[in-house]
Amino acid sequence: MDKEDEYVKTLFYGLMKRERGMLARAITLVESTNLKKREQARMLLSQVLQYNKGVMAHSMKAFNAFRIGLSGPPGAGKSTFIESFGKFLTAQGHKVAVLAVDPSSSTTGGSLLGDKTRMPELSCDMNAFIRPSPAKGSLGGVTRTTNEAIVLCEAAGYDIILIETVGVGQSEFAVSDMVDMFCLIIPPAGGDELQGIKKGIIEVADVVVVNKSDGDLVAAARRIQTEYVSALKYMRPRSRVWKPQVLRISSLTKEGIPDLWKTMQSFQHSMVDSGELVSKRNKQQETWMWNYIRDHIMECFITHGGVKNILPELTKQVRSGLITPGTAADKLLKEFAKES
Ligand code: GDP
Repeated sequence: MDKEDEYVKTLFYGLMKRERGMLARAITLVESTNLKKREQARMLLSQVLQYNKGVMAHSMKAFNAFRIGLSGPPGAGKSTFIESFGKFLTAQGHKVAVLAVDPSSSTTGGSLLGDKTRMPELSCDMNAFIRPSPAKGSLGGVTRTTNEAIVLCEAAGYDIILIETVGVGQSEFAVSDMVDMFCLIIPPAGGDELQGIKKGIIEVADVVVVNKSDGDLVAAARRIQTEYVSALKYMRPRSRVWKPQVLRISSLTKEGIPDLWKTMQSFQHSMVDSGELVSKRNKQQETWMWNYIRDHIMECFITHGGVKNILPELTKQVRSGLITPGTAADKLLKEFAKES
């Protein structure tokens, strides 16, 4: 066995021993774009997948961890919520991992500084693991890493994985495609302040959480709750067994958090019992495979020597209407099909 395999072995046993430091190092490995490290990451992930499957079979469960996506406009109170909700869960004996997806992030990969200030108590909790978004890259790159980090957290014994979208853009949809349950967190404000919410994101929410329902804001929170309840009525149900709910909570006073957790558990039970969770996860796996293929092919296409040579001129011709987009695409694809 060479040195690299030794490293994979060390990480694997570290995960089995539920060492947080080893989990952090394992995630750093899957975040690497270095070819050699990606090979090690693949070895580690295949061992971990096998292990996770074994644990599921042994416990006769359909899953190792409950994966929950959290999204909402900036200022809705996501960090405050994760701090309160995370502490609530660890107090009940759960192990909670928090992963962030932020393709626009410029923070350095391993730094926890931002999260220490955002979630001061949870980041000191021995039963919580907080990982900031991988620093660089396209949405494709960041989501791939997050997907793989989920698998590693599960192997390290985390039974609740919270995946938070920090950035704006398409990341909310990407996250809704990698979790069991998707929660939209909104502040008790209407109109302009809710502009940050992407169209269509409400349709993928399993629960809408109106945060900051405390003090003077309770009346506004009630109003927003009613608005969302009626908006959801007109949406096509995505599940046979679950109707999206709208709940009010306060992350500051923690009021409503136990009820929200009950709602989440009831969602989980319905999805497991009906078999919908298994089919949802199976479908997600396939979706991600195609996402990666699409990303990879695009990358190869754009960096292909022949394509690079003729692309600027063809683009110019398409823009000025000298040739049709279809003809240009055919020429480019023909060039791509040639050996580079
Ligand atoms: P994020 O941008 O979504 O992560 O939002 P933050 O968690 O940073 O919260 C934004 C602001 O809202 C902060 O000033 C929080 O103190 C405040 N906030 C968060 N949750 C609550 C809440 O439940 N009630 C009230 N009154 N304020 C809150």
